[in-house]
Amino acid sequence: MSISKFIETTLIHGGIDGDSVTGAVNVPIYQTSTYKQSGLGENTGWEYSRTGNPTRAALEALIAELENGVAGFAFASGMAATSTVLSLFHQGDRILISSNVYGGTFRVLDKVFKNLGIQYSIEDTTDLEALDAKVTPDVKAFFVESPANPLLTVTDLSAVAQIAKKHGILTIVDNTFMTPYLQRPLDLGADIVVHSATKYLGGHSDLVAGLAVTNNKEIADRLAFTQNAIGSVLGPFDSFLLIRGIKTLGVRLDRHTENALRIAHFLESSEAVKKVYYPGLPTAQGYEINKKQAKNGGAMISFELKENYDVRKFFKGLRLISLAESLGGVESLVCHPASMTHASIPKEIREKVGITDGLIRLSVGIEKVDDIILDLNAAIQAAQE
Ligand SMILES: *Cc1c(COP(=O)(O)O)cnc(C)c1O
Repeated sequence: MSISKFIETTLIHGGIDGDSVTGAVNVPIYQTSTYKQSGLGENTGWEYSRTGNPTRAALEALIAELENGVAGFAFASGMAATSTVLSLFHQGDRILISSNVYGGTFRVLDKVFKNLGIQYSIEDTTDLEALDAKVTPDVKAFFVESPANPLLTVTDLSAVAQIAKKHGILTIVDNTFMTPYLQRPLDLGADIVVHSATKYLGGHSDLVAGLAVTNNKEIADRLAFTQNAIGSVLGPFDSFLLIRGIKTLGVRLDRHTENALRIAHFLESSEAVKKVYYPGLPTAQGYEINKKQAKNGGAMISFELKENYDVRKFFKGLRLISLAESLGGVESLVCHPASMTHASIPKEIREKVGITDGLIRLSVGIEKVDDIILDLNAAIQAAQE
């Protein structure tokens, strides 16, 4: 039972609030692998930390509550969460993934799960009729991101979930870019949500973690079994750090997204910019759908500089914003999707879906927005040929 109907409060007090033994306001770091049993078959409910650890359990209860699910699961990385969820499928099953899915998700399907007989197809999940027609009897799930990395493509999550329900298959949503503060896919009809908690949920670029949540009891049991069987669990210290990060998610995202909207407007009005991708701009693909399913446009922006600007010089010209993989931390980061996050996608596929060599992705931090704009402006000047 949630203590509040407001997510701002649940972020801080959700799941297990404090320590009932000592009154500590934070759940302690239970840095232990095992638990003493007082006799054969007599234990405290805790047996071995791969199966369950109190610090991790507090995090798992918290994310379940935030996403409105029945159970949450914490993993060593976002990819460990995704891979454990994908392990629920069988040889011969096929998963339909959105065309702009995270590069690592594509890679694990293409290079690992395909070898085990689990097939995938890449589809444009914004084209609902075409998607519906692609559901052959072997298709067992949709795996979607909205907005999707890195073109911030918006997919109508409740429409996709409806198609899935009609065919009796699952909808899995990677909610990394939005977090439950901005968007709750289970409420929109999805069955499983996965996160790279490395990003906004952690929020400080100081840990790697993954989460999964479901609102279906049967799937929850299978996920609990698979999490323990595979064992790619999150350790107690990182679980503690992630709980700590989540407490400030609301205030951080308010600032992140306020900054992002300002920067999107700046880029849109810049002479140097050919195209801006940001779901919070009324001119963006999927603006209305995003508005319906999410609180706002988030804090990820992608843009393309005009031909007479050199992207290499742009990256060199930045002083405040770091060129780095990852996103969602308090500091602003930029990356070059074609050579970094999406390098594992073959060039032909990349070009086809719009991840050109001139594309720049910006994770807007919570610095003073004027400083971020100054830095972007200086780098743009430096990039002019
Ligand atoms: C980073 C990321 C992942 C992978 O998460 P890791 O924590 O790096 O394993 C998955 N999906 C999205 C959208 C991401 O940004």
